[in-house]
Amino acid sequence: MKPEIIMAGKWLLNALLPRTCAHCGLDLHCLEPAPLCPGCAACLEPLPELHCKACGLPLYDGGGACRDCRGGAPRSLALARSAFVFNPQLRSLVHAFKYRAREDLAGFLAGEMAAALPGFPELAPYSFAVAVPLHPAKRRERGFNQAELLAAGLAARGNLFHLEGAAARTRNTPSQTTLSKGDRKANMAGAFSVGKPELVRGRNILLVDDVATTLATLEELASELKKAGAKSVAAYTLAREP
Ligand SMILES: [Zn+2]
Ligand SMILES: [Zn+2]
Repeated sequence: MKPEIIMAGKWLLNALLPRTCAHCGLDLHCLEPAPLCPGCAACLEPLPELHCKACGLPLYDGGGACRDCRGGAPRSLALARSAFVFNPQLRSLVHAFKYRAREDLAGFLAGEMAAALPGFPELAPYSFAVAVPLHPAKRRERGFNQAELLAAGLAARGNLFHLEGAAARTRNTPSQTTLSKGDRKANMAGAFSVGKPELVRGRNILLVDDVATTLATLEELASELKKAGAKSVAAYTLAREP
């Protein structure tokens, strides 16, 4: 095809399907597959090499474990890792994904998670993915469960087996954002049930979610899965709140 025709085609696509960077709003080239402009995409921050060996919290002052994990309180969740730190650029992407119903971003985000996964060989034994469930009312309101789309995307890329519908959210818990650490734990108590224990029994389960803030939600779900017979439970999220 002649270059002029290709140029005209690209111009037409740009005019018909204008796309902007999910963070800074800069116009994106129509053939640019990423939802961020190159400048914002370069700002995505992989989980630093120095992170808590147990919970995956970025450690900016060195050491092998964060203060919470050094205490050695027994947990149901064996370990947690994240592909990225939850910085402003990723926050804009996650916000667009969840609250502006940009369901189409799931493929890109799952691809980024799949690309970062081999960097955590400690997660290799955990090959059965369980998405953190949303309460049915919240799922109806949003139209989809972002964690389920990420788990399905990881499975489609051959990284994991997706155990659909293994667990459910039985209580529509209030938002965790304004609660203290202790209150978050109490807020999550009894929030989940494992409807299909036969799917998790004896297996190493990897919980998949978009953002890990405190580990209260993941810990509560891990505890239910262990009660249902899971051998071990770890977590892998797109982002970790530092
Ligand atoms: Zn941008
Ligand atoms: Zn830790």
